[in-house]
Amino acid sequence: MKNAAERKTGQLADHGKLFQAIFEQAAIGVALVSTSDGKFIKVNKKYCDITGYSEEEMCNMDFNSITYPEDMKSDFEIIELLKSGNIREFTKEKRYIHKNGEIVWVSGTVSPLWDPGNEPGYYITVVQDITQRKRVEEKLKAAILKTQNEKNKSEAIISALGDGIIIQDKNYNIVYQNKVQTDLMGEHDGELCYKVYERRDTVCEDCPVERTFNDGKIHMTERVVPNGNGLSYFDLISSPLRDPEGNIIAGVKIVRDMTEKRRAEEEVRSTKDRLQFLLDSSFAVIYTCKPFGDFGATYISENVTKVLGYMSSDFTENPLFWQDRIHPDDKERVIRALESIFESEHQILEYRFLDKNGVYMWMRDELRLIRDENNQPKEVAGYWIDITKSKQAQEERIQLLEKEHAARTDAEAARKLDRMKNMFIASTSHELRTPLNSIIGFTGILLQGWSGELNKEQKEYLEMINSSSKHLLELIIEILDISRIESGNIDMKDSVFDLRAVMDEAIRTLRTSIKEKGLDISVEMEDISIRSDRRRLLQCMMNLIGNSVKYTESGSIKISAKILENKVDISVTDTGIGIKTQDIPRLFVPFTRLESPLSMKTSGTGLGLYLTKKLVQDVLGGEIYVLSKYGGGSTFTIQIPVEFKKIRISLPKKNAGFSNIETTGRIIKSKVDI
Ligand code: ADP
Repeated sequence: MKNAAERKTGQLADHGKLFQAIFEQAAIGVALVSTSDGKFIKVNKKYCDITGYSEEEMCNMDFNSITYPEDMKSDFEIIELLKSGNIREFTKEKRYIHKNGEIVWVSGTVSPLWDPGNEPGYYITVVQDITQRKRVEEKLKAAILKTQNEKNKSEAIISALGDGIIIQDKNYNIVYQNKVQTDLMGEHDGELCYKVYERRDTVCEDCPVERTFNDGKIHMTERVVPNGNGLSYFDLISSPLRDPEGNIIAGVKIVRDMTEKRRAEEEVRSTKDRLQFLLDSSFAVIYTCKPFGDFGATYISENVTKVLGYMSSDFTENPLFWQDRIHPDDKERVIRALESIFESEHQILEYRFLDKNGVYMWMRDELRLIRDENNQPKEVAGYWIDITKSKQAQEERIQLLEKEHAARTDAEAARKLDRMKNMFIASTSHELRTPLNSIIGFTGILLQGWSGELNKEQKEYLEMINSSSKHLLELIIEILDISRIESGNIDMKDSVFDLRAVMDEAIRTLRTSIKEKGLDISVEMEDISIRSDRRRLLQCMMNLIGNSVKYTESGSIKISAKILENKVDISVTDTGIGIKTQDIPRLFVPFTRLESPLSMKTSGTGLGLYLTKKLVQDVLGGEIYVLSKYGGGSTFTIQIPVEFKKIRISLPKKNAGFSNIETTGRIIKSKVDI
């Protein structure tokens, strides 16, 4: 029989075996570690499985040799804590280094085993292999991280696109908005799209998302929204969002702000329009052409049709089209200039170009060599201007100048000739007048019978000599006067004189012939004083009155004068033979005498009226008129200024104007007694 102590010892031995068995077969790793040196005292089988070492190997190793270096520090800290007695155990996840070098994750609890001196002599560490779980966790973490990265990337891409993105469910509730969209329109999660953005109670008529819901395709529509400074343009693009089975569960709407693009497009369009307008309305035809070879046109503005009649395609489709239409005389020069464009870079040419109507137009062509970014010749650009009109004007100017030059030369020659003629006339007339005056004087003396009685025949011959000499003298005097007027050498002497006195003097000079013919002569005029050239006026009056006497057989001659505004109008009217209407234009032609029975009987040179007209117009500054009826008499009228211009300028103010012109306003009619 065993006593109680023996039984107790026996029971303890049984318990020890039991614990030994539990220790050995436990599904968790258990190790007993010495506190003093960290050496393993005892390890169970599981612990050996976890670390890869045998029990024997383990008992020669210390705890640190299997601990992952990074976890060592925290192990020391835990031991210190346990030593302090503040905590009784500590559980943590840590890493071991397996015998094969791999990391083994364990979840371990360490607790002190108290020895009799109340000092922890050992630690029991209980570990569970969690490597598998840790690996799964790590993979999961990596997967989550990856997903997060992907998400961030997608967000970044969506934001970088700059478009607003809205996802709306099939009831048009907003379920997602990206940042661009919320920045633009605010946060509207859960609200109805058409209500928020369009302030409507129903879906918009042109809603692209609705169409996507209907046919599953991508749709687009435009929105124009007024903003502070004009209009904003948006493109709304919708696409379907499907579940894995392919059912549409939502619509993705991209809101793309097109305002800047539209503005830029509008700007480009209006710039293009402006450029086109300039090109169309310009007179210049713009072109580009190859810089070598056939120099064929690569572009030519449409207004070439306006200028030359051709279509621009005529030039661009046929490289030789333009060359073939250059005037043959200009072609070589133009081609040579183009071939030298590499050296000169810039040329201005003028040449003739055949237009569609077959007319050569003068074109001004200014061209320039264009180089590419590598400084290589790229093309020739230039413009054409039609200069036909200015060329014609230039030609006309040259012709005019040539004509003017010729006329000047002619006039110069004529003046020279005239001077020579005048010199000749002046010298010869003097040479002629002297002997003629002697002939007239001496024949007169002979005819008077002062040198003895003359028989009838002698008297007749002498009378012929005398009358012919007088005629010759008259002719010479008239020619001399005409030549003086025409050369501008006539003396003009102005004075204030009584007009009536001039008339009387003329009548007095002609009284013999008036008397011989038995003509009545009368003067009807106001008392008029004028400032003019008295001698020349007298000469005119003598010519006119003399003609009236010559060409009036019987009847009367009437002289009248009156003031008409600032002119004096003097007429000589006779009852003579008159002049045929068709002869009137010939009256003032030099050396012209009209055919009449009287012209045969009367002497004359045909210069009297020509000289009178010259004197009236060129010396007295007036005009001469004639009124006549063939067989019914004639009236010759001269109108001359009552005042010479030059005198009006130099007159003192007080006497300016017509102060020297006196008219009584009383018309005196008087028959002149001769
Ligand atoms: P002429 O020396 O012949 O008179 P004029 O030049 O004075 O030259 O006149 C030219 C011509 O005009 C005259 O020959 C004459 O036929 C005509 N004629 C001039 N005055 C008169 C007149 N008063 N009545 C008719 N015929 C006139």
